[in-house]
Amino acid sequence: MRLSEHEAKEILRGYGIPVPAGIVIRSPGELEPRLGEFGDQLVLKAQVPVGGRGKAGGIVVTPTKEAVARAAALFGKEIRGFPVREVLAEERLEIGKEYYLSIAVDRSSRSPLVLFAESGGVDIESVARERPEAVKRVTVSPLLTDIPPFALRDLLGNMAKDLSPVANRLYRAFREKDAVLAEINPLVTTPKGFFAADAKIIVDESALARQGLPKGRAQTEREREAEAHGFSYVDLEGEIGVIGNGAGLTMATIDLIALSGGRAANFLDVGGGADRERVRHAVQLVAGLPSVQVIVLNILGGITRCDEVAKGILEAGISQKVMVRLAGVNEAEGRALLAGKGYTMYETMDEAVLAAVEAIR
Ligand code: GDP
Ligand code: MN
Repeated sequence: MRLSEHEAKEILRGYGIPVPAGIVIRSPGELEPRLGEFGDQLVLKAQVPVGGRGKAGGIVVTPTKEAVARAAALFGKEIRGFPVREVLAEERLEIGKEYYLSIAVDRSSRSPLVLFAESGGVDIESVARERPEAVKRVTVSPLLTDIPPFALRDLLGNMAKDLSPVANRLYRAFREKDAVLAEINPLVTTPKGFFAADAKIIVDESALARQGLPKGRAQTEREREAEAHGFSYVDLEGEIGVIGNGAGLTMATIDLIALSGGRAANFLDVGGGADRERVRHAVQLVAGLPSVQVIVLNILGGITRCDEVAKGILEAGISQKVMVRLAGVNEAEGRALLAGKGYTMYETMDEAVLAAVEAIR
């Protein structure tokens, strides 16, 4: 479960990592009486569960006297497809350099993996792609409660003296909060020392009870909407929308997309016995993701009838291409309904997935 930025920063603060002073507001009006707590400038940060908010207009540096108006504008926006419901208003930092520091579970070594880069603030994946040597990494035995000094020297180089305490505090937070990811991007230098200017923590779903977190807290508007319809749904980062019936079939579809070189935009399991209404809602929900360019609909008819599914697709009336794989009960009727309506139908999920990946190349 991904915590929001302000929750993640609260945790870091608890572990002694400096974070900017700030308040969370749910409307621009809540900012007005608190303006005195800031200097003559502040930063407004949309609390949406995606990275790259800076580029998308979700981070606003503003003179304090214009802050309420700027906050009002931010609340009216969607940042990378997510409506802004909460804003973190923070003191403006005087930033010198920006670094990247994170700890993640590395599945191949089954250990925490600590990453550090001298170029922070940017998309770390593109740094790793273009200049792999710029991202330093060390794995730490999961039995250790601290990162050993030699590992810190390897990781941080001549920054080891300054940053070892921060790295170890982050490591303790990572362990004790059952995180699968704890990331500070950027970790910045300021005249007042190092600060976590941004923070991201993902808590292991299996540890929610131990962490006192509500199980299955819907993360996003769309996840809440999906929950209301009774779908199992998760937002992912790609361009190919996925709808399946049954968690296994839907997971397999997502795996196949990845194996074929594509990226799934979501996981959506319509569940058993979905009728036209449910299918229509599912298709509209996925089509509503701004990132979705094509949709793979993978249905194995059983209790679910293919003709009902076909009607749901037709009623959704969406603009994106849908690659339809319908097999099983009333398959022929379903295909007949979709024939000549601009939908491409596939015998197997392999073909449907390949066509979707090809379509966005
Ligand atoms: P992200 O784009 O969603 O990862 O959001 P970040 O919180 O990382 O902010 C993006 C960028 O905004 C940072 O890399 C900084 O360059 C800048 N930024 C964020 N907070 C401050 C601040 O308090 N002062 C200044 N000067 N820049 C900031
Ligand atoms: Mn960031």
